[in-house]
Parts: sequence; C-alpha cells; structure tokens
Amino acid sequence: MLRIGFLGGQEEVGRNMIFLEDVSQKKLGDILVIDCGLRFPEEDMPGIDYIIPNADYLEKNRNRVKGLVVTHGHYDHLGAIPYLIEKIGNPTIYTAPLTAGIIKKRQQEFPQGPKLDIEIIYQNYKGKRTKIGVFEVMPFHVNHNIPDSVGLAIKTPIGLIFHSGDFKFDFHPVGERRSDPALITKLASRKTLLLLADSTGAENPGFSVSEKVIYQNLERIFEKAQGRIIAATFASLISRIQQLIWLAEKFGRYVVVDGLSMKTNIEVCRKLGYLRIKKGVLISPKESLRMPPEKVLIICTGSQAEDQAVLQRIATKEHKYFQIEPGDTVIFSSSVIPGNERSVQNLKDSLCRQGAKVFHYQMMDIHASGHACQEDLKLLISLVQPKFFIPIHGQYSMLQANTELARELGIPRENIIIPTNGNIVELTPNSIKISKEKLDAFYVMVDGLGVGDVGEVVLRDREMLAKDGIFVIIAVIDSRIGKVKGSPDIISRGFVYLRESKELLAEVRKLTKEIVAKTASRERTKNWAYVKANLRDGIGEFLYQKTKRRPMVLPVVIEV
Ligand SMILES: [Zn+2]
Repeated sequence: MLRIGFLGGQEEVGRNMIFLEDVSQKKLGDILVIDCGLRFPEEDMPGIDYIIPNADYLEKNRNRVKGLVVTHGHYDHLGAIPYLIEKIGNPTIYTAPLTAGIIKKRQQEFPQGPKLDIEIIYQNYKGKRTKIGVFEVMPFHVNHNIPDSVGLAIKTPIGLIFHSGDFKFDFHPVGERRSDPALITKLASRKTLLLLADSTGAENPGFSVSEKVIYQNLERIFEKAQGRIIAATFASLISRIQQLIWLAEKFGRYVVVDGLSMKTNIEVCRKLGYLRIKKGVLISPKESLRMPPEKVLIICTGSQAEDQAVLQRIATKEHKYFQIEPGDTVIFSSSVIPGNERSVQNLKDSLCRQGAKVFHYQMMDIHASGHACQEDLKLLISLVQPKFFIPIHGQYSMLQANTELARELGIPRENIIIPTNGNIVELTPNSIKISKEKLDAFYVMVDGLGVGDVGEVVLRDREMLAKDGIFVIIAVIDSRIGKVKGSPDIISRGFVYLRESKELLAEVRKLTKEIVAKTASRERTKNWAYVKANLRDGIGEFLYQKTKRRPMVLPVVIEV
C-alpha cells in the first residue's frame, strides 16, 4: 500500500504540500514530500503575513523523510521551506535550477536557518531519473508562467503516479518550449495507477489562452502608446516580464523595474540565464526621468492594488520618482485575485482620473492564467490514462469540476477521490480510499518572527479590535473597604470619540463603582479576577445597550 498525505492546497489556493509514504513492507516506510508552499492570509486575519502547512506528522517521522521535490519557483510551492525544512529533518531538496535559485535567495532572509542541500534533477527541458528512498522520480517539462516548471512521474513500490504540478498546455509559448505530449504518453506508458491534477482552472471551459496571443495583444498596445508605458504584474510572472522586456527592446524603450520582490526575482533569473535582457536596456528610475516618455517602460508590482506596492504609490503620489502624467498607458497584466476586486477598481479609477489610459485583462487578453483549463486537463488525462484520479490545488468547486472532467473521460466514480487537508489516502493497485486516520491540518500562521504563536484566540481579538475598538477602565480599589477610590480612568481607541461622549463615560464610571462595591464587598476574599470578570461583563453589556457596539473591554484593577 501507498499512503498519500494532504497537508495543504485542498479546498484552498496556496499552501501546496503533499507527501507519499510507502507501506509496502507491512510497516510505515520512506516518505517523499512534494512542494512546501505558503498561502497569503485572508481579510479576516489581520496582521498575519503568511499561512503555512502543519507539518507535525512529518516532524514526528523526520527520520523517514527521504527528500522534498519542488515543482516550480512560486511561493505557494516553496515559500514555507524556511519555516519547515529543519522541522522535517532538512532533507535534500530536488528541483530545477531556477527554482533552486529562488529557494536559495529566499533562504538568505533566514540566516539562522540550516544550510540547504539541493540537488538539480531537471535542466534544459531534460529530467534526470532520480532515486529518492524507495521512490524514483522523473520530472518532465510543463508550461506554466515561470520557467523550469515540471510535472512528476513517480515510480512507487505499488505502481506509477503522475503529479501534474501547476501546468497548462501552451502550443505557442513565449521564450520556452511547449510541453511534450509524446513524452508524457511515453512516461505514462498506459500503466499509470494515479494522476494528481492541478484544479485551479478546472471550471474554465476551452483551452487556456496561449502566451503568444498575450504577446500579440501587448504588442498592439505598445504600437499605439504615445507616452510612457507602466505595466503592472505579479513579481513571480517571469514569462510575462520577459515578454514586456522583449517588446520594450522591439519598440526602442528603456526599462525600469520597480518593486523589491520583482527586482529580486529578475536578479535571480538573469544570473541563471532565464531572462534575456540586452545590455543597456535596464535603467534606474532616476535615469528614466531624463528620457522622453515614449522611450520608457516601467514594469512594476501592484497589480492587486496592494498597499505599499509600486503602482499604488504612483497613484497616490507617494512614489519618489513617478507620478501619473496625461498620456501614460497603464497595463494590468494579471488577473484580479478574488477579494481584491474593489481595491483594484479604485486604483484603476484613480489612474484614469489622473489622465492615464488603462488596459486590463477583461478588455483584451493581456493576461493568461498559468493553469490548465478544461480542455488542457482532458488532454492530460487522455495522455496519462490513469486508473485512479485525485484533483489537487484548488477551492472545493474547482476540485469538484476537475473530477467531472475525469468522469467524462471514463474514469469510474469509485476510482476518484477528493481529499481534504489532513486526509490520508490509502492506495493499492486495486483500490483507493480515505484512511480513518486524520492529520492535524489547521492553519499555522506566521506573524513577523513568530511561527504558529498566533492562534484563533489572538486572531479573534484582532478582529474585535479592528471592528469595535478597545475600552480600558482603570480602577484603583481600596482593599480594606472594597470600594473604588476616586474616579476610574478610561482609555479607549477605535470605539467612540471620548470628548464627545462625556455623558456615556460618566455613566460607565458610576457603573464601575457600583459593580466593584457589589462584588468586592461580597467576595471578601479579594478575588480580583471575579471583580474583573463582573466589570468586563457589566460594562460590555452597558456599552452594547447604549451603542450597539462590542468593544473589547479590559478592566484593570489596582489594589491599594
Ligand atoms: Zn505556480
């Protein structure tokens, strides 16, 4: 039997991490981990930087972890490495050169972390068959939107497994080779037991848009643009950045790259030869100010209207060098991540108001997702012809849509499983089922230097503070008689404007004295926790009656 553990990426986009565990010798054996990604927090997680998978099971069994294979250079596939690699026993990381470059660069931000052991098992479109414990991994080229993306054919003791990685079929990719269907068929050799397939685009009909179409549409914008062009995209969309640079070279524009993450990525890619930029094309923001506008392309971050990203700072006139000038063309070459729609709309409005001409992906194809649409998925399933099928990487509706495709192509219902995070799937040559054993899969949140020390309670507090503010009452209590001395102090933030609420505050002070008199005198034991609990409840209730708001009430009792 083979066990497949799902630690992240199911019913969510991000935090991708699964593992294969061999049980062929009647006991738990070698473990192979695939990807180790992070996820960006939602709006209801204030202050959280990232969410990472819970790797407790792997930590407990670190001596059996034989390796970590990383499919490509996106943070939702490698971003949790600095937080987890030591925990899981610092196994060798098997990957491609660009992915390795990005992993190493990121590790520099964690100088206290261990030295990573990285082995290249794929280069120049060629995979190297590699033994990792009892497993044998063969990476193969797929199109995505960062070079060096791979899918995996994995020989396990019970049969062959395919992992699609993040992929699409692009028959006219820009700057790289197309994926090779013949190679996929050859690797699958009609004997594939299981296919794990990317579900992100499974709800979208048709084939994914080719990067060539994107290039042609961008080209039309470049032809017409009279002034500067400002193109915002994701820092990790290396293929798109390359297209923009080629267009700049073609139309005689100099290129300014702005945004820390983007600059870092470009530096890594250039050093490793994954980005081709002619000498003298890249210039600094300052130099660009001396150029005529029609000679300048600015490639920057901020296509999601993120607070501190470059495009936002340009729009709000907080950028050190750039402001929007009439005649500027702004291109949003990326999709809008669900949840960001409103802020992106505001940003677009602001840019237009200042005289820019704005293009976004809904107006024409100037962005293509890196993920397979329905026809790409059907093609992959047809090439691999697996006996069993598991959708990975996506919200539940996407996973569900992916299983529909598998069923349409004749995979029987009982051979398809949709695991959730924490599930372990038990696979034999003849059966697939979800194990009764469930792993902890709750969110591990990263806040600054703290990993996992912010839990539900802290988050709830933050939400409460954000919603209704905080209300602190400081009461000095004379412990001999159990009464408040003088007038209690009140500090409040984000609740009401204190100066205009004198009446309310006077009532709260009165109430505080009453509650203390009642509870402190009755409980002659000087049980201050009891007094505080009563203050919290009593005043919380009073404030709610008066204002219909529930600030966090913090009573502070000073005993004299
Ligand atoms: Zn990706």
